[in-house]
Amino acid sequence: TVRTRFAPSPTGYLHLGGARTALFSWAYARRFGGVFILRIEDTDLERSTPEAVQAILDGMQWLGLEHDEGPFYQMRRMDRYREVIGQMLQEGSAYYCYCTPAEVEAMRERQRAAGQKPRYDGTWRPEPGKTLPAIPEGVKPVVRFRNPLDGDVAWEDAVKGLITIGNRELDDLIIARSDGTPTYNFCVVVDDWDMKITHVIRGDDHVNNTPRQINILKALGATPPIYGHVPMILGADGEKLSKRHGAVSVMEYPAQGYLPEAMLNYLARLGWSHGDEEIFSVEQFCKWFDLDHLTKSPAQFNPEKLAWLNNHYIKAADNARLAQLAQPQLERDGAVFEGAPPLEAVIGLMKERASTIVELADAAMLFYRQPQPDAALLAQHLTEAVRPALADYAARIATVAWDRAALSAMLKEVLAAHKLKMPQLAMPLRLLLTGQLQTPSIDAVVELFGRDVVAGRLAAHL
Ligand code: GLU
Repeated sequence: TVRTRFAPSPTGYLHLGGARTALFSWAYARRFGGVFILRIEDTDLERSTPEAVQAILDGMQWLGLEHDEGPFYQMRRMDRYREVIGQMLQEGSAYYCYCTPAEVEAMRERQRAAGQKPRYDGTWRPEPGKTLPAIPEGVKPVVRFRNPLDGDVAWEDAVKGLITIGNRELDDLIIARSDGTPTYNFCVVVDDWDMKITHVIRGDDHVNNTPRQINILKALGATPPIYGHVPMILGADGEKLSKRHGAVSVMEYPAQGYLPEAMLNYLARLGWSHGDEEIFSVEQFCKWFDLDHLTKSPAQFNPEKLAWLNNHYIKAADNARLAQLAQPQLERDGAVFEGAPPLEAVIGLMKERASTIVELADAAMLFYRQPQPDAALLAQHLTEAVRPALADYAARIATVAWDRAALSAMLKEVLAAHKLKMPQLAMPLRLLLTGQLQTPSIDAVVELFGRDVVAGRLAAHL
């Protein structure tokens, strides 16, 4: 079975790039009826925080990327890493190195001076017939992986194609520090092995780690998984995605009024394609997603497209759900719900043009506050020529049948009777009812407010 994992380091928020690799790994497992694992790579004690762990869990939950196993925490697996290190020392695929950091630095200096690429010179690497130096007193050794000296390490990357690295390019990697703690690359290897990961989908900033990880896996007698390294996400200006390009933390998006299905759809298309399809559900994505259609070049983040998708999903969403999402903002903004039309109905009227829930709540406010039309605007639109027509309209409000068609017919009769054009009456009506000139169709607004509110607001100005 397919087994994938998302393995974030909890050193900050869950950013868009991380969420996208999580989505790809999750969808790949879903597609093949496999298992998706969440693994928290928290061994960098100085940079890992519980808040960041929570931010990752929150982001995954918001997106609905449920894991089947985990979350596993590397810090809880230390005994296992030590066990494997012990095993490798015993088998000879790893060895103690007693070079002090100062000695390693001096070694590098010499190599740089000689115009060579700095690398560990193999002082403590055991070889048949070689006598190792005497073990110095008081030095705590590191453990190094005995990387093959010759040949290549190659893998068919699911995104980038065949990648081949000469073993001569690779150092004897430190797998345990002098205090005994295992290093990053080593923990990843043991975990991918123990967790029987079949497909590693991750950012291509990890490409350089892959040959080292493959060599260690082979030394452990494991079959390396398939690797797919996904290119980075760039801003529209071609620079690495950062705060300048808008929110980069996934959890800023619900706060800004984005729906998770819009974010999922957006991320799915960021560096992956299925013909010309732009809008598809996450279920559909799970049926289509493959590694063959991942783009080799970096993807560009386009906030306008995300907003466009969000508008699409807002229009498609259930009004009750949207109302629930918008309600807190309306409350913060001092909305008065008493005597006002139900929020669900208002949402239904306003959602067509909203790119975010924040915009939707802003727009909905016009039904929940007292209108305060600007005096100058009012003077401009509520002229003496228009007043009689408005009075006529107000009088008919009392008896007209209360539905949009009847209201629309009634408005047209008034316009005809007073020889006015639609905006001449609609604009002052909008001002009086809502305090603003831009609203959805006036008949829809009037219908939603209801007879009493409309009659009251018109009477106050006539
Ligand atoms: N922990 C690594 C990161 O957050 C990912 C490692 C991996 O996927 O192998 O960048």
